[in-house]
Amino acid sequence: MLVCVLPAMAEPAPAGAAEAVGLPAVGDVVEGFEVKEIRPFALIGAQLVLFEHQKTGAKLLYVANEDTNRAFQLSFPTRPEDYTGLPHVFEHATLSGSEKYPSASLWFNLSFQSYNTYMNAHTTDALTYYPLASLSEEQLLRLADFYTDSCFHPLIMEREDICRTEAWRYEMTDMDSPLTLNGTVYSEMLGAVTLDFRAMINTNTVTFPALPWYTITAGIRTIFRI
Ligand SMILES: [Zn+2]
Repeated sequence: MLVCVLPAMAEPAPAGAAEAVGLPAVGDVVEGFEVKEIRPFALIGAQLVLFEHQKTGAKLLYVANEDTNRAFQLSFPTRPEDYTGLPHVFEHATLSGSEKYPSASLWFNLSFQSYNTYMNAHTTDALTYYPLASLSEEQLLRLADFYTDSCFHPLIMEREDICRTEAWRYEMTDMDSPLTLNGTVYSEMLGAVTLDFRAMINTNTVTFPALPWYTITAGIRTIFRI
């Protein structure tokens, strides 16, 4: 598990002023996280501090620089074992209600109504990550609490209907309606994959048959029988 926190300085400071904002030293322990490494990252004028959580081994990367656009990200290694699209479905499901924030529509409300400059979630071939950014540190911390509770206490662990909503399900609007398939990730994938993209998936699948190479398209193989 990787936890990544980007700039959180209260106000602009001159480059090289890491000491001025109180960065810890290697070996220090802050809230259960031990500092393993500190190094400059000249390209973005930053100091990088790599922490490791003593109990769980979770990594936390703190990036301190002059950027006033503060950011926070939770990242999880989610290497897929097959083409069912499970990591992508769970990415959606974790943001569909948690113990502390049980509303399934809260993500959309916060996305449009909070003071954020970026708010999203992504699944790649090896990672699922949840990035946030805001020019307000107070707003960022509130959103970070929402994302953290969503990832670690999601309601999907108790409610199968959330999985069916996000993955796929059969639907009939009334007794006489035809049986149809629906689902958020299912629909997203139907819209995302073009004919040439399917051809590329086929090429990769044939070339690397044992490798679930791209999680985003993971549900597609089942959907299109490719
Ligand atoms: Zn998606």
